[in-house]
Amino acid sequence: MRGALGGPGVLLRRLREVMAAPVSPQERLDRLVVLIAGNLVAEVCSVYVLLEDGSLELYATEGLNREAVHLTRMRAGEGLVGLIASEAEPVALSDAQSHPAFSYRPETGEEIYHSFLGVPILRGGAVMGVLVIQNRASRLYNEEEVETLQTTAMIMAEMIAAGGLKSLAPPGSMIGLDRPIHGVGVKLADGVGLGYAVLHEPRVAITNLIAENPAREVKRLEAAIAEMRTAIDELIERGDVAHTGEHRDVLETFRMFAHDQGWLRRMREVVMTGLTAEAAVERVQSDTRAKMLRQTDPYLRERLHDLDDLANRLLRTLMGKANGVAHEKLPENAILIARSMGPAALLDYDRARLRGLILEEGGPTSHIAIVARALGIPAVGEVVNATALIQSGDAVIVDGQAGEVQIRPQPDVENAYKDKARLRARKQEQYRKLKDLPAVTKDGLEINLQINAGLLVDMHSLDETAAAGIGLFRTELQFMVAQHMPTTTEQQSLYGAVLKAAQGRPVVFRTLDIGGDKVLPYMERVEEENPALGWRAIRIGLDKPRLLRGQIRAMLRAGAGQDMRIMLPMVATVDEFLRARFIVRRELAMMEKQERPAPTNLELGVMVEVPSLLFELAEISREADFLSIGTNDLMQFLFAADRENRRVSERFDPLCVAALRALRTIVEAAGEAGCPVSVCGEMGGKPLETMALIGLGYRSFSMSAASFGPVKAMLRALDVRKLRERMDWMLASSDGASSLRSQLSALATELKVPV
Ligand code: PEP
Ligand code: MG
Repeated sequence: MRGALGGPGVLLRRLREVMAAPVSPQERLDRLVVLIAGNLVAEVCSVYVLLEDGSLELYATEGLNREAVHLTRMRAGEGLVGLIASEAEPVALSDAQSHPAFSYRPETGEEIYHSFLGVPILRGGAVMGVLVIQNRASRLYNEEEVETLQTTAMIMAEMIAAGGLKSLAPPGSMIGLDRPIHGVGVKLADGVGLGYAVLHEPRVAITNLIAENPAREVKRLEAAIAEMRTAIDELIERGDVAHTGEHRDVLETFRMFAHDQGWLRRMREVVMTGLTAEAAVERVQSDTRAKMLRQTDPYLRERLHDLDDLANRLLRTLMGKANGVAHEKLPENAILIARSMGPAALLDYDRARLRGLILEEGGPTSHIAIVARALGIPAVGEVVNATALIQSGDAVIVDGQAGEVQIRPQPDVENAYKDKARLRARKQEQYRKLKDLPAVTKDGLEINLQINAGLLVDMHSLDETAAAGIGLFRTELQFMVAQHMPTTTEQQSLYGAVLKAAQGRPVVFRTLDIGGDKVLPYMERVEEENPALGWRAIRIGLDKPRLLRGQIRAMLRAGAGQDMRIMLPMVATVDEFLRARFIVRRELAMMEKQERPAPTNLELGVMVEVPSLLFELAEISREADFLSIGTNDLMQFLFAADRENRRVSERFDPLCVAALRALRTIVEAAGEAGCPVSVCGEMGGKPLETMALIGLGYRSFSMSAASFGPVKAMLRALDVRKLRERMDWMLASSDGASSLRSQLSALATELKVPV
């Protein structure tokens, strides 16, 4: 029987000797290929290393022509070697030349070899090269040989990562691992940040790859698995998500995988090839990651993610590291890199040192994105495999404005971004100068500008912008960042602190807007086909009055002796408003009965964000103390276009005739009833859109703090009389062109309004 000479354990021990020998990197590689070929009874063993341009260069060979070393290069995806690199899967063939991907390179002299086994050199799921063995005779390699070659490839990956092969890169070129990468993701938080990578969950560095005693390693692996299972069981039993921030569902999935025989068998097999238990976990994890990166089915991808997380836990258990986040020390300019991250974890870092955040997951409406925006940290999400591509200490640039990242940028790219950051800083400075000037249009019309907030950390923006108040305080954020349901006392203390920070400026507290995409980790999740149209916000509040009552109570107590403003989200009918108002009034009456100090004045408003309310405008304007338009939801429901779904979210322009007419109807009806109305959705924070809203008759806006300067600069240059005339005409004479955006832009240019 053919097979490894002396078994894989012997090979690994020899490999370790070669790795430790005091020779040049080339000499070491040359010795390695001889050793591998000899041990696997192959006539050829070759190493191809991935270069920065995606090509694979022959770095060493035993068996092929030596002259081809550092000469033969396969383009990305070319030949069998290119195929292995792009698929990140082993390829074993008894007749390589008949494979359609085979690419013949005369300089190598490989035509005499028929059978072929190639495996990717993987680290953290990223391909770093390809390791190949070949034989003259036509034969099939057995599983043990494939396994051994993969294990050998892992050791090579560590050698490449340790920088051993840097000096061998062709002049003016570099190996793939160090290459600059331009990553594209989604915008989470605006701004440009330059700095150095800090991994939120640093890779567990494995110092010992090769086992002295495989039987002992199997025992270590099994003990660690048992320990991990117990730890997960305990977490589930305690219902304690506080420490890990993990969702119960995730823990249940962990438990399932922790008992998955296939996964455990894979790791045991790898230990048997001669690796230590931790190296075996790492190898299987790397394979999982490689699969994950090539998986398009979101369900399977998610499961692979879970498996990856679980492997991390196991690694930490094996290496005696505490589970949970062990923060690296932050450098002055830190760019935080994570697969995903809870908002509370971000708040744990020293804000003063953070320049940016890069996530592999996390959409624009994720909680972490909201917190990053509140903290003013430029952030980009959905950057594929960021945690494997970026190494701790790498120079990284986050462009939250474009939703892009630059990893290990070239000097010219870095300079361009430095310019961009400087330009932004200059603009911010200009906006800051507007701070003490009134929010009044060129023709003397006063506009009320407020900011949106949701956390105590937002409150500094009130002074920075000199906003008139908080037009929307999203109370759900406290619930979303908490690890348990905030008690009434905790809520009261937050609202009290917010009012104190506002120093007499008005704050509009919105009652819980949870459900839909806003999920609370400690609350049982209700599976719904259409969560945006499902059981959310005031619907939950009315069905579970205890929750709503508790929150109202906390608000009323916090506002004792002051003016208080409360607003109800997602109200679809006047009846819903009246039912909620009944609860509020009952709470007030109870306070009076108990002789508790109550707010001096209470205004109860309503969000206009469900289109049905547009047909009860007269009634709702009569009943509510104020209206606030949630354009984010109003547009999604008006156009039946999911705001979370990027395929459709930008399909309908809020500056189209239909939307503008709807918005005009609201402002006119509110005006007739004498009910104050403002806009608190994103539309009111974009200069051109806000200009259009002013043209429709709106005079009050609440927006993110970052939008404040640009909107104020716009309105101070605005001649409202002219704008109104032209907009009335545009809306009346619409010729079927669905959006007025270009006409409005042209008008802004004509009126010299910066938008
Ligand atoms: C809106 O819908 O426009 C709004 C302001 O509320 P949220 O974005 O929190 O749903
Ligand atoms: Mg809304």
